[in-house]
Amino acid sequence: MRSRSIKLAAATGLAAALFASPAAAAAGSPGATGIGDSYYPLDGNGGYDVSHYDIRLTYQPETDLLSGTTTILARPTQDLSSFNLDFLLKVSSVRVDNAPASFRTDGGELSVTPAAVLPAGRDITIVVRYSDTPESYRLYGNPSWIHTPTGALAANAPQIAPWWFPSNNHPRDKANFDVSIAVPPGVEAMSNGVLVNRTQTVPQWVRWNWRSVRPQAPYLAMLSIGQYEVRLATAPNGQQLVTAYGDDLGANGPAARASVERTPEIIDVLSEWFGPYPFEAQGGVVDSSLGFAMETQTRPVYDGFFFSRGANTSVVAHELAHQWVGDSVSVDEWRDVWLNEGFATYAEFLWSEYQGEGTAAEVAQFRYDTMPASDPFWQVLPGDPGVPNQFHPAVYYRGAMALQALRVAVGDDAFFEILRTWVAEHRDGTASIADFIALAEHISGQQLDDVFTTWLYTAGKPPVGPNGAVQARAVTAKPKSYDQIEFTIGLLAAGK
Ligand SMILES: [Zn+2]
Repeated sequence: MRSRSIKLAAATGLAAALFASPAAAAAGSPGATGIGDSYYPLDGNGGYDVSHYDIRLTYQPETDLLSGTTTILARPTQDLSSFNLDFLLKVSSVRVDNAPASFRTDGGELSVTPAAVLPAGRDITIVVRYSDTPESYRLYGNPSWIHTPTGALAANAPQIAPWWFPSNNHPRDKANFDVSIAVPPGVEAMSNGVLVNRTQTVPQWVRWNWRSVRPQAPYLAMLSIGQYEVRLATAPNGQQLVTAYGDDLGANGPAARASVERTPEIIDVLSEWFGPYPFEAQGGVVDSSLGFAMETQTRPVYDGFFFSRGANTSVVAHELAHQWVGDSVSVDEWRDVWLNEGFATYAEFLWSEYQGEGTAAEVAQFRYDTMPASDPFWQVLPGDPGVPNQFHPAVYYRGAMALQALRVAVGDDAFFEILRTWVAEHRDGTASIADFIALAEHISGQQLDDVFTTWLYTAGKPPVGPNGAVQARAVTAKPKSYDQIEFTIGLLAAGK
């Protein structure tokens, strides 16, 4: 439309040019194909803001056939002639405000051209119908969707949503979710938030209805379908507590239960450091097919292997800490991943301290002492690790050392005030590392360039350790919790 107007103006002179101007405005313009993330330029989209996803699906475990409808409530932020959603599967129809729209899918982008221009500021309803087998797709080379022997798992970062629902897939656009999945009787289907009900209107299908009422980034929406023991309970704070354990956990089952059943207790302890729990429900899912663990909102997913050496509350503390740092306060760009992984790892250190199994200072110091300066570990910058190293152990461990160094620099009172204020100020939103540095300097009244430049942005082993001392000749004693933390981070960092 736009280029035709320009040609017309050129051909017929001034009168046509005057006419073309308002015509071009009425034509709108296409929304950007990415939201502006330097690590993942095609993640998210421009031109609109989503407020709600209604995802209504049917899943057949044997064939991996996923079909249904996602309804998206959104508001254009510009006059839109077309817009993109992030989605991989085959689409059969798209409607915008009930009118059929033309569409095209290509490499994870679903481009939609509505019948008429969508004016900025006027709410729209997008309905996408689809049916496909998610396991056949890759994005950035990754097959994030896992088709298991008894169902499927959707839990990954930063990209998993495009395998099961069309979205504006970036933390900058959070929304509420209703997720409804029909599965054959005898199959369980878990998602985020509160389990509203399970309904069976036809003999062949049981429908599980889940609702998330706090803003949620699309990548934190999860599905776990299969054979589980599902436990529905009420946490001491009155919230619904849903835990689920795969039938195939075998010897890992008891230790998994002995760890994940402590979720409300660990949430209470974490609340002392990060402030009130930010969400409306609690729980966790343990499965044998994931290969790592993921902080999906209100309901983390853990691979059973985390519990193969016995109870592992370190990984539970890690994923639950993400509910504050990662899920409620999300990265503004994926470059800011230190705000997720450095903080959740430091929460493991704090949990160790609380358990009396080694202080955070001791855990950080031991890692620092035992990692030789020649190790490539020290070459990864937690503050800007690059896409291939986004989940490198350095982002976790050196990232947690950075927080220990900050704690030593500003003192305990200021440090925990910084953590709580951080979460309170950015609740339900996103923030950057620069925002965190500014807040830390504001609360402490100190200039903290040295701490952050050294620990986040300078290659090489810092000559002064996380507790402010040059390395002693003898390595400090290994904290009791250390092997469990090492095992946990090893799986979390390598699994991605
Ligand atoms: Zn993590």
